[in-house]
This record gives sequence, C-alpha cells and structure tokens, in this order.
Amino acid sequence: MADTPNTFTATVLGFPRIGPNRELKRAIEGYWAGRIDPVALQNTARDLRIAQLTAAKTAGLDSVPVGTFSYYDQMLDTAVLLGALPDRVAGIIDELQRYFAAARGNAEVEPLEMTKWFDTNYHYLVPEISAQTAFRLDETKLVAELREAAELGIPARPVVIGPITFLKLAKGTGDSDPMARLDDLLPLYEQLLTVLARVGAEWVQIDEPVLVTDLSESDLASVRSVYQRFTAVAERPAILVATYFGSPGPALAELAATDVEGVALDFVAGTTVDDVAALPALTGKLVVAGVVDGRNIWRTDLDQALATASTLLGSSRSVAVATSCSLLHVPYTLDAEPDIEPALRSWLAFGAEKITEVTTLATALHTGTDAVATDIAAARAARQARHNDSRLRNGTVRARLEALAPGADRRAPADERRSLQQAGLGLPTLPTTTIGSYPQTTQIRVARAELRKGAIDRAEYQRRMRAEIADVIELQEGLGLDVLVHGEPERNDMVQYFAEQLDGFLATQHGWVQSYGTRCVRPPILFGDVARPHPMTVDWISYAQSLTDKPVKGMLTGPVTILAWSFVRDDQPLGDTARQVGLAIRDETVDLQRAGIRIIQVDEPALRELLPLRDADKPAYLEWSVGAFRLATSGVSDSTQIHTHLCYSEFGEVIGAIAGLDADVTSIEAARSHMEVLDDLNAVGFHLGVGPGVYDIHSPRVPSVDEIVASLRAALAAVPADRLWVNPDCGLKTRATDEVIESLRNMVEAAAALR
Ligand code: GLN
Ligand code: ZN
Repeated sequence: MADTPNTFTATVLGFPRIGPNRELKRAIEGYWAGRIDPVALQNTARDLRIAQLTAAKTAGLDSVPVGTFSYYDQMLDTAVLLGALPDRVAGIIDELQRYFAAARGNAEVEPLEMTKWFDTNYHYLVPEISAQTAFRLDETKLVAELREAAELGIPARPVVIGPITFLKLAKGTGDSDPMARLDDLLPLYEQLLTVLARVGAEWVQIDEPVLVTDLSESDLASVRSVYQRFTAVAERPAILVATYFGSPGPALAELAATDVEGVALDFVAGTTVDDVAALPALTGKLVVAGVVDGRNIWRTDLDQALATASTLLGSSRSVAVATSCSLLHVPYTLDAEPDIEPALRSWLAFGAEKITEVTTLATALHTGTDAVATDIAAARAARQARHNDSRLRNGTVRARLEALAPGADRRAPADERRSLQQAGLGLPTLPTTTIGSYPQTTQIRVARAELRKGAIDRAEYQRRMRAEIADVIELQEGLGLDVLVHGEPERNDMVQYFAEQLDGFLATQHGWVQSYGTRCVRPPILFGDVARPHPMTVDWISYAQSLTDKPVKGMLTGPVTILAWSFVRDDQPLGDTARQVGLAIRDETVDLQRAGIRIIQVDEPALRELLPLRDADKPAYLEWSVGAFRLATSGVSDSTQIHTHLCYSEFGEVIGAIAGLDADVTSIEAARSHMEVLDDLNAVGFHLGVGPGVYDIHSPRVPSVDEIVASLRAALAAVPADRLWVNPDCGLKTRATDEVIESLRNMVEAAAALR
C-alpha cells in the first residue's frame, strides 16, 4: 500500500441500477419468461452500467463506485462473492439460474428470505449461514465490472459489503450465530483486497451500514480488529469504510483507531461535525462527507452542506463531498418529469441532480465558491421560494390540530365498545372476512390503462369499477362471508391512491425506485401541509354497501404507512406530518360512518418499517406513530368498529404498540408462523379482537378445510372465541380468482364447523 493514496473530492456511494426507464426490470423479466437469452440480458445490463459510469464521470465525479450494479440484490451478490449461497441451490449448474433460484425460488427450491434494508423501502435477500457454510471467494463479477470501468477511463472505486454487515444481516441456520464465522470470512476479504489492487483499484469502499445500529461490546471490538487486520494486507487499495442511514456512534472511534485510509459518514441522518472533531485519530484520514441526501428528493441546502464540509476540512487531512448513501433509493433524474410544475420542480433533486450538487459542492470546497456562485445562488433562491410557498402551510389544518382536545385520540374502553358493536352488527362468533383487495383482473388493468391513454373517460372508468365491485360483493355473498369488502379495484396502490387525492402530495411520472428484485415503486412526494379536500372512498364503499345487507368494511390506509411509502418533507418533524395525515384519514372515517358504514379498516402494514435503527430513538417514534393512528381512528362513535391490518407476525419491538393502537380488531399474518404470534400478543396483555391469518396468501396453494380448522384450533388455544376473527393473511390482489374462491369457501366452511 502506498503511503499516501491519491484522494478524491467528489463521489456518490452507489447508483440505482434498474435503468432510467426500468430497462433492467424488463430485460430480467423477459429472461425469466424465456423471451430473451442471457446474452441479451447481459448486454442490457452492460449498456446501463456504461451509461451510468460515463454520466458520472462527465458530471465530474473523480471517484466512481463500481459493483453496486446487481441483477437482483447487493446482499445476494455478496453471498455469491463469498461463496455463501445455500446448499439447496448449489446443484444448479447454470450460474444465472442458480442466482435467480436463490433470489426467487423455483419449482424445487425455496428462495432466500427477504427483509427490509435498514429503515429504507428497499428489501434485501437474507443470506443463510451455518457452521458448515464453505466460504470461497468468487470475485468474477466485481473484477469484471472494475475492468469494464477501467477500460472506459473511469476512476473506479469497487464497492463491497463488509464482513460485519454481511454476517449481522444474515440468518443463522441450524442454531449457529453467523458472527461466529467472522474469522473464516476475513481471509477472503484479504484475498479480494489484493485482487482488486492488482486490477488497478486505488480505493475500495467497504460498506458497513450495520455500524449505525446498536452494537455489543464484542461487535465493536470486532470492528477495530477486522479493519486493522485488513490494513495489514501487503498489497491492497486504500480502504474507505462507509456507514450510512445514521451515525456510527461508538463504532466511529473503533474505525478511527485503525489505519484505514478513509471513512464515509452520513451527515444527513445524524453524524455531526462534532463527532468527527472529537476523534483526533480521524485527522489523517479522508472523510467522505455525505452531505447530499441520498434517500430523499429535496434539493440540497448548499450553504449548509458547504458549511459542514468546510468545518470538516478544517479538522481532517482531506474531505470529499458525497451523497449520504447510495442513490439506489431515489429516482434517476428530474429530466423525466416535464409535467411537474416549475416552482415545485425547483425544490427537488433526483439522482442526476444530486450528482451535480456533489460536484458543485466539491468545487466550492476545494477551489472556492466563485466558480459555482450561480449554482449556489440558484439553490439558495429555490430554497427560499420553497420556504415561503403558501402550500407549505395550511392554516385550517394547523388550527384544527391545535384545537384538538387532549383526549381527542381516545375512545371509550374496549369492552364498552365491544358490546355496543356486537349489538349493532349482530355477527356470529368466529366472524369471517377478508383483508381488502380481491384479484386485480385483466378488466381492471385494461380499464386503468385505457383511462390513462384517454381511450375512456372517468365516467366509463367508474362504471367499470362499479361492475367489479358488484362482482366481488356477489362473490362474497355467495361464499357466505360475514363482513364484506369492496375489493379495492379502483386502487392502483394503497398509498398512491390516497396521495393523489390529498393536498400536499405530488405524484411523479417516472420516479421509480427499486423495492426489491425487479419490483419498483413510485413513491409520492409529500411536500406541504396535508389536507383532504373531499371524501376519497365514500362513493365506492357506499356503493358496495348498497348492494348487500351484510356490513361492508370501509378500507383506508393509515398515516404511518402513507408516510413510510412516500418521500416526506424534511422541514418539519415527521410526527407533525403524521398528525396531518392522521387528521385527513380521521375526516374520511367520519364521512364513512355518516354514510352508514359500520366497520372501517385502517391498514398499517408499515408500522414496523419506520422503527428507528437505534433503541434510544424507538420510544419517541412509537409515541407519535401510535398517536397518529389513534388520531385517525378515534373520530368515529364507539359503535363503529375499527379494524387494522399489519402485514407480518414478527412484531419484535413493536409488539407493545399493537395494543396501543386500540383497534377493535387487528388482522395479522400468522399462517406461516403457526399462530405463535398469538402467544406473543398474550404476553403483552393484548385483549382486543384479533384475526390471525388462517392461510398463506403468498402461495397459490388452496388450503383444505381440515388445515384451516387445525389453524383455528391452534388460535383458539390462545384466544377466546369471542375475540377471534377468521381471515386470510393479507389482501388477495395477487392471487387468481379460482384459487381465491376455493380457499375462501374452505375458510368459511372451517369457521362454520367450529362454531
Ligand atoms: N387492504 C390491503 C389489501 O388487502 C392491505 C394490503 C397490505 O397489507 N399491504 O390489499
Ligand atoms: Zn397484509
């Protein structure tokens, strides 16, 4: 290792990879469907990488990350890099087929589990590590991408996920702790460092985002020993350890104590200049200052970012300007959004614009502000305009929230509500229901596409959706379900549908962001105070109710989920925004009740997702998130039954908060975990109605009556019959109609058999 590596001044921590027009998504899905061959897929991937690298270099980045491209997921790629794919796919000869089998399974093998990447909306594949996993370095992909970049004259910096993050995020199989394998992994990384140096890498970026979570003493000690050990490799690139999504806290001192040449820190999500100043050992290192938010879409406050970077420059040898994390989490470019109103547009920065912000800041930092004075002035003006825009503040909403009485988010005690609701609804014991959506039929998709193209008008669209609703009601009546739903045909997406109708939100046309694999989402942008100008669901639900004597459940998305799946404003606390959304949903529940709807479900599948990464921050989060849900659901009378739906069964730290929601009925996923969740709920004194999913909707398999009876018996062992509801795990929109009919018929029969 050379004494002083050439440093750099401007970079990002990673790139999106799905393609500006989702080219990679289409190519991969085409390959899966057999429409294109592997070579065509590889060509598409290469073209996308080259376009990205070239654009980054042209924009002025003097160090460009390489290796953040992926056909599916970076954790899966790391498992391949380390030879850590599970045995069950090892027998698949074809490399791509093996890779995709690990990612999504096939007829013979189960895929890896998928879970959320820290507190983002990206999902990664969870590596499975056992005491027997035979690690073996396979650097082919990374080296090929490094060479590809080098041939283009790109100042490439290979990126890998570090051993501590890799193992801490892995799942131990056969009761082994993945971290017990740390020592076995280190030689592979050492070998990799030398390989990368020989291919010409001056720097390597080793991502250790897990350092921003609470770590044990022994994990912290590993941080120091692992990275010190890496620096002892004779032939290697300079090492940049990257942390993001928060402050590394005590782990920063451990890194500082090693001889690594650089650290990348997230100054948007919690790291401060004081954290750096407090560690004199950082003085000799390159600090890659993540001052441009890689996760949100707001134009950077260049003055503030420059102030941060300048302060750092005062105390460190060298400073590079960077995004706070990979650009994976934001759309490609604002250029694809010609329809966003110019004022609003000037407040935003997507991936390409963020790269420009980085280079502008780097120029200002290293050669003075003169050369970029106009850019800085333009950013300042846009920021001022945003700050002064009247849409940021809705006086009525603010006044209403201020005026809410202290007990406005409380309802009568649950028992009182229960008897009122029982009297009003007259439901049998073990009432049957579904979670909301019914299969998205071809007619629904066609109608939506035709409306978008202007081939049909709103009235025709509404007529067709009503026909769908009528079908779903008839179907449910025929099956003998007790509480019906309208089926959600009119909803493209459970958040977007509401965002489109609320003030304060903006929709993008091409703002796609990878959620997992080839799946992308287009989060709405929440830019101003939220208000509900008109009812959003009442017509649809009332229409459904008009077709039946059975109660139809109103169906809404809760405030926390609406925030979790949107880009949120950064100019006020999230809890304040949550209350505004909560108020809008509250207004909707009141209107539904007025229209004669007696049961209203408010879905909060994302409640757990926004949980802060550090324990110390969790209580405050649970306080405002549960508070926003209660605000949304306490405007109705006690005889109106509130349901909620949560999409998982491992509540972990949010388990205590479930009771706090105070919903009369909570439906949850349970089928895959054999009702264990009910014991967890009992352990925290949960005493409200509960609908543990009695069958798994994630699989096309139709459950038999016996199986569902067995599930229900297991549930009845934990929950008295008068609190138990009978429903599937989740919504049915991804399933085929035939499967749904058969499954629900068996579910209704199972409930009847036990009554
Ligand atoms: N009501 C929604 C549906 O049934 C709930 C979806 C979800 O839990 N993510 O589709
Ligand atoms: Zn669900």
